Amino acid sequence: MTTFPKAAVIGNPISHSLSPKLHKHWLARYGISGDYVALQVTEDALEQTIRDLPGQGFVGINVTLPHKVNVLQFADQISDRATLIGAANTLTFREDGQILADNTDGYGFMANVKQYAPTWDPKSGPAAIFGAGGAARAIIVSLANAGAPEILLSNRTRNKAEALRAEFGPRIKVVDWVHAGDMLETATTVVNTTSLGMTGAAEFKVSLDALQPGTVVNDIIYNPLRTAFLNKAEAAGCVVVDGLGMLLHQGVPGFERWFGRRPEVDEEVRQAVLA
Ligand code: NAP
Repeated sequence: MTTFPKAAVIGNPISHSLSPKLHKHWLARYGISGDYVALQVTEDALEQTIRDLPGQGFVGINVTLPHKVNVLQFADQISDRATLIGAANTLTFREDGQILADNTDGYGFMANVKQYAPTWDPKSGPAAIFGAGGAARAIIVSLANAGAPEILLSNRTRNKAEALRAEFGPRIKVVDWVHAGDMLETATTVVNTTSLGMTGAAEFKVSLDALQPGTVVNDIIYNPLRTAFLNKAEAAGCVVVDGLGMLLHQGVPGFERWFGRRPEVDEEVRQAVLA
């Protein structure tokens, strides 16, 4: 019997995930015999699932909510960036039985903004981040590594932002949610990492009046692709970047490790995933 490598995305819920479309597109495009499936996994079944998958021909998995933190306990090796972020979204099952954990969300964020705002320089001024959840952690680590001189951080629940400042240091300045719009006066990079503006969620209501023309503005939401947040930023003369490219780029390191070919992120794959 011929076997071919398989990968999966695990989460709960999982039916909304675009990762199967992404990886299946790349497999077909590069003529690689392999498969990529979505698996709904409850917290109770997490450990057994991870232990069983390598024996079933799986070479790795992407991990999404709510398992990104919990999977770290099953890893034999954890990359520096996953350690810093405190969560993993990519596991690789090695032939020797070892499990490697990585976090490629921050990489995906950086690669996306660089691709669609090619002149972007994270060192050029403060970055303003709305939200202090899991995605914000990865983005803060990446921006700090890329030399952002100051990271202004505002979250509805202020103590979560304070906790990130305590962890990642004084380069982070916490701004109260009622004054979140003030961050835009000096920011040269602006990122919405809250779920506000996502289909089915509440609207993003913070005033964007202080946005400066030329600022690079990214919404990591990709459903819808064009959020009201991005439309307002574009009307203010900002360079806007949607969230789909972050999802596409975060998949690159896993695909390369599992299937042996570094895949491209371009218009063709965007359209394939949106179809
Ligand atoms: P999370 O850990 O649950 O964090 C959610 C964030 O949204 C928190 O900061 C939360 O504030 C804020 N929020 C939620 N409802 C709010 C409201 N009504 N008013 C103000 N703030 C509110 O989620 P996550 O994993 O970071 O994901 C956040 C968003 O990013 C989601 O829309 C997700 O789909 C998207 N995302 C995109 C990518 C990509 O590849 N493009 C990757 C990861 C995530 P509190 O702390 O006050 O609750």
